[in-house]
Amino acid sequence: MSEFRGHVVAGVVWFLILAVATSLLLPRLVGNRGGWFVLSGWGFVAQLAVAVLAALWPDVDTASRGRKVFYRVLLAFSLYSIARSQWKMAAVIGLVGILPALGNHRGWTHKVWAAVLVPLPIVLLPLYVSDDGRWLRTPDFGKISAGLPFYLAAIVGLFSHLAADGFFGRLLARISGGPAKATRGD
Ligand SMILES: [Zn+2]
Repeated sequence: MSEFRGHVVAGVVWFLILAVATSLLLPRLVGNRGGWFVLSGWGFVAQLAVAVLAALWPDVDTASRGRKVFYRVLLAFSLYSIARSQWKMAAVIGLVGILPALGNHRGWTHKVWAAVLVPLPIVLLPLYVSDDGRWLRTPDFGKISAGLPFYLAAIVGLFSHLAADGFFGRLLARISGGPAKATRGD
């Protein structure tokens, strides 16, 4: 399995395991289905897409298919922001695009702190951007549920990548008989 496909599969599997565990465990523990965590319908599909993109994201620091996918998504968001004259948003997206190039492969994009901090804008932006695209001085905490399910999906995807590169990657290498080594795009 290619590294690209491996990370896509890992992202899907981790998210599905979490979705099943959540729908089985939460009703027993807190008496609801955990709708704040796993959405239904198209929301679920969007969460899965976020988890897969997040599972590919750490390899933006190297020549990988994950980098191509990520930068195409970033380009689409950038063009959308420019078309709507949302200059601050376009500038933030540009900054996000620059940062991965500042580190070595398996550098900061593969750290646990990055997995928690990098997706934070998913939950913070809805609090600070009004429905008509204006920036708010004080956060609107009533909109926390807009971003939280996607933030959590992103964290799941990012940790699936770290696990696949780390412990599980070494395990697979041992099973297949070769030493674990960092190869291009993994
Ligand atoms: Zn990696």
